[in-house]
Amino acid sequence: MQKVDVVIIGGGGAGLTAALYTSRAKLSTILFEKLTPGGQIALTDLVENYPGFPEGIMGPEISMKMEEQAKKYGTQIMYKQVTEILKTQSGFEVKTSDETYQSQTIILATGASFRMLNIPGEKELTGKGVSYCATCDGAFFKGKEIVVVGGGDSALQEGLFLTRFATKVTIIHRRDQLRASAILQERAKSNSKIEFIWDTVIEKINGAQKVEGVTLKNVKTGETKEFVTDGIFIFIGHDPNSSFLKGFVETDEKGYVLTNNSVKTSVPGVFAAGEIRLGATKQLVAACGEGCEAALAAQEFIDHA
Ligand code: NAP
Repeated sequence: MQKVDVVIIGGGGAGLTAALYTSRAKLSTILFEKLTPGGQIALTDLVENYPGFPEGIMGPEISMKMEEQAKKYGTQIMYKQVTEILKTQSGFEVKTSDETYQSQTIILATGASFRMLNIPGEKELTGKGVSYCATCDGAFFKGKEIVVVGGGDSALQEGLFLTRFATKVTIIHRRDQLRASAILQERAKSNSKIEFIWDTVIEKINGAQKVEGVTLKNVKTGETKEFVTDGIFIFIGHDPNSSFLKGFVETDEKGYVLTNNSVKTSVPGVFAAGEIRLGATKQLVAACGEGCEAALAAQEFIDHA
């Protein structure tokens, strides 16, 4: 059984920064990632608010560079899903589908996954006009009319990106006030390809082989109507990727990991960084900062063990 100083679970900004710090501190480090490095940022088009890149940097590019930087100092990256963590006398056992690893400390950095609307037609038409990733699927909608659901930063940022392909992007929001930052609101409202439908939810996604339209309901008047569209992009927030923890550390009722006022969880030697942590600001730069903090905390824990 391979034994290391630090196991990091999750390869987004928080996990990759933690890996960079622990590896540079000469702590043997395995980082587990179930998909591709970068986490949510790898699915983002242009990152404009990470300091040092005045022109912005593409999400996949910064993800790959972060991975390269962690590997350069010795992080072992394994593309495997962690299924369980157990406390042992000397530390922790980390189980994946095919192997078990031992570690003295754990950094939880699995982030969160996009939320679904859970309405009729959504599952059936995913990949057939229903999408949760503009960077992945935007190009399929060249010359088409699409709708975007949500009123936060993701909905507006991705909606703006989708105007590169679509002839019209209709943003459907359940209230008449956006949650998104002022700069994105300004850009979206002044983009001639973007229209808004307020106080409205989607009740149903219609289409046999592909999306043909959506059934809308105005939450103030109760009125419903059919809306023709070629595609629907859903950006309504995220839920924490913490089901594998199965009560191993304390979480809130939604599954966000509880920490003290920094990165320590309820279990000594286990730290949490980034969007999995209750209270995280959910910004890339903050996730990286928390990754650094978790790495330093793991180092201190090992030094005093
Ligand atoms: P978010 O801020 O939680 O916004 C989710 C949006 O979806 C809200 O407008 C919400 O409506 C709506 N919504 C939630 N559940 C819904 C449902 N069942 N049906 C219809 N609408 C629903 O999520 P996000 O936009 O993904 O952003 C997540 C975090 O990442 C935020 O902290 C954000 O600042 C950050 N982020 C930052 C950037 C950037 O800085 N450029 C880009 C992307 C994301 P209500 O407003 O009514 O609640």
